[in-house]
Amino acid sequence: MAGLAEAIGYEPRTAPGELALVHAFLNTWHADGPRERLESPERLRDWLVKRSLLAPAARVSVAEFEGVRRLRDGLRRLIGTPADGVAAAELEAINRLGRKMPLVVQFDAAGNPRLEPGGSGVQIAVARILAGIAAGRIEGTWPRLKLCRNVECQRIFYDTSKNHSAIWCSSQICGNRMHARAHRARAHRDGEA
Ligand SMILES: [Zn+2]
Repeated sequence: MAGLAEAIGYEPRTAPGELALVHAFLNTWHADGPRERLESPERLRDWLVKRSLLAPAARVSVAEFEGVRRLRDGLRRLIGTPADGVAAAELEAINRLGRKMPLVVQFDAAGNPRLEPGGSGVQIAVARILAGIAAGRIEGTWPRLKLCRNVECQRIFYDTSKNHSAIWCSSQICGNRMHARAHRARAHRDGEA
């Protein structure tokens, strides 16, 4: 029997536009394979330099490193929690970190406004990621970033299904795994009965 994800024609995709950077940032942690990609300030620096968000000679302090990881983890929980289920304290923790990453409104020659990062060093890099979320909100793509419900995966995926109802990053991998697990659990229960 085809899974729900197959039935709705979902296949994994990278988020479009400026949200692609946000998508990559949120998946610097997931439960499948080596979980943590940002293990140290140096690894965070390498990640940002590779994406031209930070100068190669820049330093990342331990405090900056810890702040960036907390922000990432907070955003992951925000995505994985139903809209009305986010605790006030949790939101405040995310917003406190967000306040350290300045964004300013700037206009191009055609008069179009856009959010540009302010500050310096890591601040600019992370503010650019947050600007990607703001752009995604305007374009309607941000709500399509979701947490894969396979606990052994927990990747953030971009939901391209028609009715925004995908629950796994990949129907072939996570969807099938979860179906197999549910099947085993059922067989086990039936065996006990
Ligand atoms: Zn998955």
